[in-house]
Amino acid sequence: MRENAEIDAIQSPEDTPADLSLRPKRLSEFIGQEKLKENLSVFLKAAIQRGEPLDHLLLYGPPGLGKTTLAHIVATEMGATIHVTSGPAIERPGDLVGILTNLEPGAVLFIDEIHRLARPVEEILYPAMEDSKVDIMIGKGPAARSIRLELPRFTVIGATTRQGLLTGPLRDRFGIVMHFAYYDREALYEIIRRSAGILGYSTAKDGAEEIARRSRGTPRIANRLLRRVRDFAQVDGEAEIHKPIADKALEMLEIDHLGLDKVDRTLLSALINKYNGGPVGLDTLAATTGEDSGTIEDVYEPYLLQMGLLQRTPRGRVVTPSAYLHLGLTPPQKKASQEELFG
Ligand code: ADP
Repeated sequence: MRENAEIDAIQSPEDTPADLSLRPKRLSEFIGQEKLKENLSVFLKAAIQRGEPLDHLLLYGPPGLGKTTLAHIVATEMGATIHVTSGPAIERPGDLVGILTNLEPGAVLFIDEIHRLARPVEEILYPAMEDSKVDIMIGKGPAARSIRLELPRFTVIGATTRQGLLTGPLRDRFGIVMHFAYYDREALYEIIRRSAGILGYSTAKDGAEEIARRSRGTPRIANRLLRRVRDFAQVDGEAEIHKPIADKALEMLEIDHLGLDKVDRTLLSALINKYNGGPVGLDTLAATTGEDSGTIEDVYEPYLLQMGLLQRTPRGRVVTPSAYLHLGLTPPQKKASQEELFG
């Protein structure tokens, strides 16, 4: 068992009922991702004017940035029903046929972790996305025959942590591909103020700013930290979430001023202490730290890269001098190159 269950809960990709209550319902309530929102609202308007479903939409980016939330918003804005499933949940082609043949005209089919669809399932999806058709096999052996069913027009919204994990043919069937970037501090601040309002918490400006700073660019983490900080405030008899109580709570949760948690710091210090700063391969790093390599790649690494603490090179992961400084260590002196020595 992992030592720090609290951090796991904060990073957990599953939305709890408390998270769900904070989901914005309309595009106008969705904070941040300005460029993405601007484009999407044009595509939505155009589709509504034409009386057609929205083109298939692929959303990609790290967990907790709002992909599922946005899929629900698209359905609401289109006045469509939404069916929610995920790549690993659709085990057999027949499962997908069942879902597809029950879709209402104009429905949204949201497939989370779409990169994890089994290949035979994916093959059912291609003609469904392209021509609203599904081919099914009836019977077995020499008597087997294929029949083609017409489906109503519908929209697939796929979500994935990394676009590169999708097969080429699947990616090509999405007319719109949108990337979610980490949120900036201002957007996170707005999200925290909005959530605090819904939950009836009182937050001081500096308290919300401190939580925003340590939320690693991720609304889901911002909301969870807000609730945890509020627990500390309540127990300490503080009526308001201000910076000192946020600092105290986040320190107890072992989340530092950059928003790094214990696992982030373990990864960086393993790279520094065991591999001289790298380069080291992902699987080796996973084995050394006891973390899952997929989780490192999807959850931890993107933020460490974004913060300039880690770099990916063809030979593996390398820490930057900033990582040494962040951990209170002295970066090694770079060996002077021939050119620097001799001009
Ligand atoms: P993903 O599907 O990318 O993992 P979710 O859509 O489940 O992320 O978002 C996680 C939580 O973060 C949601 O429950 C929602 O409350 C919150 N959230 C995400 N994006 C936003 C946003 N732009 N504005 C406000 N809250 C957001």
